[in-house]
Formats: sequence, structure tokens, C-alpha cells
Amino acid sequence: MLQTPYYLIDEQKLLANMRVMDAVREKSGAKVLLALKCFASWAVFPLMAEHMDGTTSSSLNEVKLGRRKFGGETHAYSVAYADHEIDEVIENADKIIFNSISQLTRFEAASAGMTRGLRLNPGVSTSSFDLADPARPFSRLGEGDPAKVEAVLEKISGFMVHNNCENGDFALFDDMLAKVEAKFGHLFGQVDWVSLGGGIHFTGKDYPVDALCRRLKDFAERYGVQVYLEPGEAAITRTTTLEVSVLDRLTNGKELAIVDSSVEAHMLDLLIYRESAKLEPNEGPHRVMICGKSCLAGDIFGEFSFEKPLEIGDRISIQDAAGYTMVKKNWFNGVKMPAIAVKGLDGSVRIARDFTYDDYEQSLS
Ligand SMILES: *Cc1c(COP(=O)(O)O)cnc(C)c1O
Repeated sequence: MLQTPYYLIDEQKLLANMRVMDAVREKSGAKVLLALKCFASWAVFPLMAEHMDGTTSSSLNEVKLGRRKFGGETHAYSVAYADHEIDEVIENADKIIFNSISQLTRFEAASAGMTRGLRLNPGVSTSSFDLADPARPFSRLGEGDPAKVEAVLEKISGFMVHNNCENGDFALFDDMLAKVEAKFGHLFGQVDWVSLGGGIHFTGKDYPVDALCRRLKDFAERYGVQVYLEPGEAAITRTTTLEVSVLDRLTNGKELAIVDSSVEAHMLDLLIYRESAKLEPNEGPHRVMICGKSCLAGDIFGEFSFEKPLEIGDRISIQDAAGYTMVKKNWFNGVKMPAIAVKGLDGSVRIARDFTYDDYEQSLS
């Protein structure tokens, strides 16, 4: 048995999501690009690259990773590029999408000859968290004034709009897209491509994939554009666990178990959005609070039910540890960094990466 802690990516589960990617590409004509800010564990890119068209990025580092490790079509986007980054971004990208007209103007000469796009902000979104709402008041994410966008139309050949967030409700997506069209539809007919961003949870259970595909196909035909989707979470949802072991048991009003991991270091997104971790099957008479080993008082994965009392050495699988999780792992408290293991299609498990004391030392100076 591998030593915990480690993230375990299951390629069989990944393949199930990838088959949905194939169906969406085939039925809608849309191209799908993996959003690297959500998931950048390149050990499984060879499998994903067979079912997705490429990657999209939010920084110079991501665009380089996409080009080197994933291949296919490489989109570059960033909230803001620095002068010293722009040449390397362009070298590594097939398209560059600017976040603002001012960045487009600043890098107009540098990006001449490059396929260019602009991010639009439709002023509406499905995010229930202010923190992650691109349409929040005073948002810096994309241009919102159609007249200003129209004035720079000859400099670009496409648009990107990203205003869905883990949206598993097709009717809501449909409604959002109608609002985007009401605001910017007259411009869509004048470009070659429109990326509708990520946040559409079309790999979720019972999602009406066919209805989504029809909507996307209609959209593409109405404006004569190539549609792109940029799934992050939808590509890797339910594929990965964080495998941990119980190190100690305590009782303090509740039954507590301390594991060889930390929410803040290894599943930071749970803290940021104040969510509980997920455990399966989470059934049985023994209720235990699973706690991290960092010294943060609130380093708690959540409270779960078990068939038997937990013992020191017992193993626990924390579900859904891929999206916005592995990309955010950090060395807080110097906690042992989880290795990255891959369960291949043949069922065998290999360690793709292990982290040592040297990695910790090298992460600072
Ligand atoms: C975050 C992001 C995505 C991916 O979003 P998911 O919710 O993970 O699908 C795609 N495009 C852009 C521009 C993003 O900022």
C-alpha cells in the first residue's frame, strides 16, 4: 500500500467524463479546452488530450504548461499581462484573449499577426459566491460596454464570456446565454469565434447534454461562429480522492480524528468557500469529526458517519479532490505534501510524483 497522504486520480472515472466531452464536441460542434487554473495535473493529460481540443490559461506559466504538456489548441488569457511576459505568451499560444480594451491596445503591435479576442462582461452570472462572481459590482473581468467593444472590433476575431459557475441547471444556462445575446448578439455575427467559458456542469448526473448541444449548435449557426467551451471542474469532477490516514483520536465533546493532511494545505478551496469535505459512504452509527494536522484551530474536513469506531492507522478517502484543489496545495505548516498517484485504465496504481523535504526547502529561500 502506498504511504499516505496522496491524491489518487482514477483514469477510469476520468474517461467517463471524457466520453461526455466527446459527445458534446460531436453533437454541438463546439471545441472544448481544459481550463488549467482548475486542474493542471499533467500526468493524466495524455488521456485527456485524446478527448479535448486543448487548453486555456490564466497566466504565462499556464499557457506554457498547456503547450508543452497537453498540446492541441492553446488559448492564452490573463486578467493582465506584464510587458515582459507578452512575447513569451504569444510564442506559446494559438489565440490570445485580452481582458480589457486597454490591454488589447497596449499589446496591439506585439500581437499583430496573432488571432486576438476580447473578454466580455455581460453583467450577469450564476455564481452564488460574491468572491467568485465575475459580474460582481466593480468587476475587472472583461469589457461591459458594447459600444466601446464595437469600436475595436477590427482588431479582434472573437470573444470570450465566462459567467457560469458550477451551473448544473440547463434552463439557467439557457437564460444566461439569452441575456449575453441580448447585450452582445449584434457583435457576435461580426466575429469568427465565441468562447462561452467554463462553469457548465454538463458531466453532472442527469444533465441534459443533448439540450445543451442543440443550444450551442443553434448559437453557432445563428452567428456563424466556432463555439468554444472551457470546462475546468466539469472535466475532472468525481475523478480524484485525497487518501489520508488517522494519526490520533481525541474526545472533546465530540469524537475527533486527526489525519496526516490539512484542509488549509491540501484542500484549501473548502476553507475559502466554507464547505465540508465529502466522504463516502458516510453511513453508520459512529459520528467523527475529521481534523487536519496543521495548527490552524479550524483545520477541519467535516463530520462524518462510520460503521466502526475509527482506529489509528485507518485510511480515509476524501472525495472530489481534483478541481481547484491540487492546484492550490501549499506547504503551510510544512505538512508532508501529498504525492500524486494515478490509477491507470488497467487498474494498476503508479506514483506520478512524490514530494520530499527538498521540495519544501526549495519552495522558499
Ligand atoms: C475559471 C474559468 C474557467 C473554468 O471554470 P470551471 O467552473 O472550472 O469550469 C473557464 N474559463 C475562464 C475564463 C475561467 O476564469
